[in-house]
Amino acid sequence: MKLKSYEAFWLLKNGLMNSYPSLQENIKCDIAVIGAGITGAIISHTLHKAGYDTVVIDKRDVAAGSSSATTSMLQYEIDTPMIDLAEMIGEEGAVISYKAGIESLQILENLIREENIDGGFGIKKSLKLSHSEENIEKLKEEYHFRKKHFFNVEWLTSEEIKERYKINSYDGILSAEGASIDAFMFTHELFYRNHKRGLRIYDHTEIKKITYGDNVVIRTKNGNRVVCKKIVFCSGFETLKMFKEKYADIVTTFATVSEQNPDMNDELKDLLIWESGMPYIYMRTTDDNRLLVGGEDIPFKFNGINDKLKRTKADKLIKKTHNLIPGFNFIQDYKWAGAFGQTKDGLPYIGEHPDYKNAIFVLGFGGNGITFSVQGMNLVLKILAREYDPLLYLYRFNR
Ligand SMILES: Cc1cc2nc3c(=O)[nH]c(=O)nc-3n(C[C@H](O)[C@H](O)[C@H](O)COP(=O)(O)OP(=O)(O)OC[C@H]3O[C@@H](n4cnc5c(N)ncnc54)[C@H](O)[C@@H]3O)c2cc1C
Repeated sequence: MKLKSYEAFWLLKNGLMNSYPSLQENIKCDIAVIGAGITGAIISHTLHKAGYDTVVIDKRDVAAGSSSATTSMLQYEIDTPMIDLAEMIGEEGAVISYKAGIESLQILENLIREENIDGGFGIKKSLKLSHSEENIEKLKEEYHFRKKHFFNVEWLTSEEIKERYKINSYDGILSAEGASIDAFMFTHELFYRNHKRGLRIYDHTEIKKITYGDNVVIRTKNGNRVVCKKIVFCSGFETLKMFKEKYADIVTTFATVSEQNPDMNDELKDLLIWESGMPYIYMRTTDDNRLLVGGEDIPFKFNGINDKLKRTKADKLIKKTHNLIPGFNFIQDYKWAGAFGQTKDGLPYIGEHPDYKNAIFVLGFGGNGITFSVQGMNLVLKILAREYDPLLYLYRFNR
């Protein structure tokens, strides 16, 4: 008998930390932020701090979208290797966007310190593994390319990886910069603090219609109206349906987390692991001593994922984990699936779109969605101030 479906781990771990009222009146504001996930939390924080009268609206609970399902590995390395990205957008652009990823880790860490947030944040190194003998050369090119541009990377042979981390693998690149976070907890904590400072947050508020003009008018399903000067969409992959262009492919990805394991070795605790084969696998530890593993993507299933498929995918992830780290006894606690968008170059879409007057989009798609959202903090302010930034050119629509 199926009493319930699987839930994302972070929601179970933290519970519904805070709840906000739904919108029950007509209001005005400078800026309406649509979406109360991690992107909405950091963007509304930035806007509120900059003095904009900001309102956040979500049709679900806070952090109930991708931000409750994410594995939250914070890497500057995006899904597209820097050497491939250079081929697509030019060497300068590739370096700028990779360096912006490193900067975003620092920005996030500073924010966490400033706000005295826990957020399960931890600084980690990031190990990208070659998935086959043939892939080693390609990965080595990537290593040399990053070295050429002064990235703090180290080439590790399979023997060194085994010796240092007890991981069975081919050679890999170790990057000094990386981190992980509990995105769900962080989102709640940041919203809570800003709400206390006057940020208006409305959850369970469904939007029926938006009219774009000199003012943007949002009409809610229960008949209320929000009139604002600007609207900022931090609404995740569901935003894609607003566009006639196809900006990203939506995939379903799978994740599973082990029981708490107090004997976890320290080297593993401080590491993000990413093996880039197809299907790829990635893993990190959590702040409560679990190993969290993700991957096994498939094209998005609109009708949801059945329990059998989740089980099969989780079993595959665990088997691969066992092959990589035979010394780790992975006893499964939870498994779940989530959706995200993959863009053609691995970069996000952050900026304005010609079809929507006075709207700004912060769509940090891909496996690095969170670091892209952090980059959005500065970029949104620049858009509002009509200032140029090379990232706005790289992350533009219709590129
Ligand atoms: C399994 C998995 C693993 C991942 N791993 C990583 C990783 O390791 N590192 C990483 O950086 N990223 C990862 N990602 C991606 C990352 O989780 C996302 O980039 C991030 O959570 C997106 O946050 P968001 O706030 O933009 O979107 P969401 O958290 O989805 O929030 C969007 C919010 O907008 C609301 N909304 C949408 N449409 C409307 C509307 N019309 N009206 C009102 N509200 C609306 C939704 O209800 C939702 O709450 C992963 C994702 C998944 C699913």
